[in-house]
Amino acid sequence: LYNMVQDLKGNIRVYCRIRPSFVAEAINVIDFVGEDGSLVLLDPSKPHKDGRKVFNFNRVFGPTATQDEVFKDTQPLIRSVMDGYNVCIFAYGQTGSGKTHTMSGPSCGTTKDMGINYLALNDLFQISNGRKDIITYDIHVQMVEIYNEQVRDLLAEDSSIVKLEIRSCTSDSGLSLPDATMHSVKSTTDVLNIMKLGEVNRVVSSTAVNNRSSRSHSVLTVHVHGKDASGGKLRSCLHLVDLAGSERVDKSEVTGERLKEAQYINKSLSCLGDVITALAQKNSHIPYRNSKLTLLLQDSLGGHAKTLMFAHVSPEEDSFGETVSTLKFAQRVSTV
Ligand code: ADP
Ligand code: MG
Repeated sequence: LYNMVQDLKGNIRVYCRIRPSFVAEAINVIDFVGEDGSLVLLDPSKPHKDGRKVFNFNRVFGPTATQDEVFKDTQPLIRSVMDGYNVCIFAYGQTGSGKTHTMSGPSCGTTKDMGINYLALNDLFQISNGRKDIITYDIHVQMVEIYNEQVRDLLAEDSSIVKLEIRSCTSDSGLSLPDATMHSVKSTTDVLNIMKLGEVNRVVSSTAVNNRSSRSHSVLTVHVHGKDASGGKLRSCLHLVDLAGSERVDKSEVTGERLKEAQYINKSLSCLGDVITALAQKNSHIPYRNSKLTLLLQDSLGGHAKTLMFAHVSPEEDSFGETVSTLKFAQRVSTV
């Protein structure tokens, strides 16, 4: 029944999450968060009525929302993976707005405040366990990062991080990244170890350029295979994506590598927007091939797949410009 309700509402939804302010005396540009999925943005340069703009989403999480509250509203989508649906969850927003907090949590090493990645896998294990008399599930994960339109394996044990080719998802294996390391996971301990390995490999590859993680997309893919006693089979996947920071860089201020990175990020994020918009408008041509990111996620964007985007915003006045662009991007991809 849940899936029926989802289908009626369309397969793309957008949630907005506002992180808490870190500066006590900072002026907040987000004035009001409604239970109905709306928020009011205040333009600090227009302190009158015409400086107020309302944005509507499927759901808005204010600064006090907990990881568990956020997960609770994501859980039904994640659960549908166990029924054979492909699902894609993105975290979008400028660097520092809380994307990694939502997807991974504060940091490895503790299980406090864990994000969607961990909670999702934990939930999948529980469902698998609860259905074990009817269906046998196998769960595998892959983890890659896309940096400057190159795909790198983050789970290669020897940390020799290779450049990978994306196949069309109609290939024999049905996998879009047949050469990326695949790990079987059976418990949350396995998941924590995988996340740690991915984290380490990401750091290893970023020594040349400081803090590269905010300038690459990281994609954790969960493959679910189910088999019932009568030989019936089910195959689906869940993509959990922590996108590169969406902030615009000033072209007059950066050059060389940094400018190249910015252009790649810009291009792939606008391709993502184009694909989601084309899907929402039910266009006949969906431009998946315009970026590595959309090509990789093709099997879980469109068709019967379900997509959720978390638009992250910072509440402080000095982020106003980026907050406006994030909210506009999110508004564009939300089907209303
Ligand atoms: P991003 O990945 O978008 O660059 P982060 O997730 O790293 O941003 O968040 C930036 C900082 O803000 C981190 O220190 C993070 O722990 C903190 N933070 C983000 N969102 C929240 C939140 N909802 N509650 C508490 N702290 C948060
Ligand atoms: Mg981050």
